[in-house]
Amino acid sequence: MTVTRENREGCLILWIDNPPVNALSQDVRAALLSGVTDAASDATVKGIVITCRGRTFIAGADVKEFGAPPTAPFLPDVTNAIENSDKPIVAAIHGQALGGGLEIALACHYRVAAKGAKLGLPEVTLGLVPGAGGTQRLPRLIDPITAAEMITSGKPVDAVKAEKLGLVDAVAEDHVDAAVKIATSQSIQGRRLSERTFHLDTEKFEALAGATRKQAKGAYAPGAAINLIRSTAGKSFAEGVAEERALFLQLRASEEARALRHIFFAERGSSKAPDDIGDVKPAEIKTVGVIGAGTMGCGIAMTYLDAGMKVRMLEMNDEALDKGLARIQSNYQESVTKGRITEAQRDQRVENVSGATDYASLSDCDLIIEAVFESMEVKKAVVQQIDAVAKPGAIIATNTSYLDINEIAAFTSRPEAVIGLHYFSPANIMKLLEVVRAEKTGPVAVVTALALAKATNKIPVVAGVCPGFIGNRMLRAYVREAGLLLLEGATPEQVDRALTAFGMAMGPFAVADLSGIDIGYKARKEAKPGSFEPMATIVHDKLVEAGHLGQKSGSGFYTYTAGAKAPNPAALAFIEEARANASTTPRAITDSEIVERTMLALVNEGYAIVEEGIARSIDDIDVVYVNGYGFPRHRGGPMCYARALGLPNVLKTVERFGKGAFGKWWPVSKTLRAAASAN
Ligand code: NAD
Repeated sequence: MTVTRENREGCLILWIDNPPVNALSQDVRAALLSGVTDAASDATVKGIVITCRGRTFIAGADVKEFGAPPTAPFLPDVTNAIENSDKPIVAAIHGQALGGGLEIALACHYRVAAKGAKLGLPEVTLGLVPGAGGTQRLPRLIDPITAAEMITSGKPVDAVKAEKLGLVDAVAEDHVDAAVKIATSQSIQGRRLSERTFHLDTEKFEALAGATRKQAKGAYAPGAAINLIRSTAGKSFAEGVAEERALFLQLRASEEARALRHIFFAERGSSKAPDDIGDVKPAEIKTVGVIGAGTMGCGIAMTYLDAGMKVRMLEMNDEALDKGLARIQSNYQESVTKGRITEAQRDQRVENVSGATDYASLSDCDLIIEAVFESMEVKKAVVQQIDAVAKPGAIIATNTSYLDINEIAAFTSRPEAVIGLHYFSPANIMKLLEVVRAEKTGPVAVVTALALAKATNKIPVVAGVCPGFIGNRMLRAYVREAGLLLLEGATPEQVDRALTAFGMAMGPFAVADLSGIDIGYKARKEAKPGSFEPMATIVHDKLVEAGHLGQKSGSGFYTYTAGAKAPNPAALAFIEEARANASTTPRAITDSEIVERTMLALVNEGYAIVEEGIARSIDDIDVVYVNGYGFPRHRGGPMCYARALGLPNVLKTVERFGKGAFGKWWPVSKTLRAAASAN
């Protein structure tokens, strides 16, 4: 039984018990409907409470039903039956009331929330709009602009804010008890939201519409939600829900919703332990050592501090250590100022981090992560010292971006304990964590890394060892094509514009300027010959050698003066020079060619990575690119995008690129060929 009934003081309590998140599966919908119908004809029932057992109120639709045709009773039938009840129905909310869960609550005549509850309509994050009256009832209950903001952003509000907004009638310690009191003492008079209308303040609404369009970065659903709310303002509820339902059904079948469902499931899949690892328990991690208090070390330290763990930082000298610790403190202070954490949380986190310059202080750490300079010599010295002091069973992790982790592991006496934990900058914010399994990495290290990812709110992807692992290896292919496009006639600005229009968070040349063009320069100097196309980075190299390192030096592909960004004439001159030396005749390059070349470079490399067993699955590639490289989520990742293009088309294009001047960089992987023929 997913819904049980309790009679308490003339109140029928419908207890939903559908673990883990009380999703609105078909049986829950049916039981709610019959509960409400039965109560109507039961003279002993004065009012009804809808509530949940377990850790949360209804947290949304049942993921098992995602993408499948809806089955009766449909959610709008349930919400309408609830609202039409002549006896008061009260939602008693704890945990999360999301999506369909909030739509049920909005159909109720009253809402009571427990402290800490969160309420929201996150449908846009799945390429949808609420489809059971949510877009119509919410603006009839609270300020319509705030309602529109909640619907288009998908962001939830907490109980305290919800009470201020009028979204809940009360916040109570014992929310079920409070709900029972309301259900048995109040009337439904004026409480049916469908009987109200809503109107929009045009100026405020159009400002929101503009901001939504900008934030959506090409995603369709947020703008569709805006249009729906604009179109239904002032209309009757019946007209409003008819428009809402039509849009919901249209979006449900859209490419965007398919892509967002794909990435949703891909993210769940990537955190599962590899099949060859049996039933192994993760090690318990309480104290984490972090070596190197630079950009990454500080971010990694904060990741663990945020999760309540103790962190010990190690640096080469007191000066570097103090600088790192001060950076962590000022970051937390900033979070307090922005209202993201409380002062007590700041104090707790700052108290949990300590620093040292001697390795002995790491002897009780359960996990030690090195984030020192990207040099094999430095890494060697560091891991040997870790090996000398780490306790038995401790896990030793490296945050290297490109170096061979098999080699790093071999410097220690316990290669089974060595693993790659490749974080992305800023490490305390970016969701992605590549868990790099070297040849001898043991199962405990792998499952512990996956468990840590969960505990620290990261999305892990298991990768094998190769230069750049999954993400940075793909990035090389992408940057190569972007660089070659310059020689063929594009400008950095055009490439960046085409790719941001496609939905990338930033273009490749703006990214190079932001992270420093010298970083790649150094990596190229140290890389094995033949691993880079020299023509692709000729302009990058010239810029570095002339002191244009990117934003940090005030100029790179662009100039940055007084916050204004403009194409750097020096970069354009280097491009001209490179074109002349390469004796290429510049031609007009379309934005769609830019997108095609760079995206298919990612796709082709992605297939090669799967073929070599570096990634476990095609889906994992998408998880990496969406969460670590600013790939537009609404396109589901590069591999999902390739499927939308049609794999036979992708194969044909890759083969065509293979015949071009730089065709050696386009070997067609067998996996792509097989996938295209199975299409
Ligand atoms: P960084 O230069 O900001 O920090 C490195 C820190 O390590 C410095 O504070 C330095 O004093 C310290 N250090 C160097 N040698 C040491 C030693 N022997 N003992 C103790 N401390 C030592 O560099 P970063 O950007 O934080 O990169 C660190 C590592 O993370 C590199 O391997 C890099 O490839 C990798 N990484 C960087 C990024 C990024 O975006 N910056 C992303 C992922 C991974």
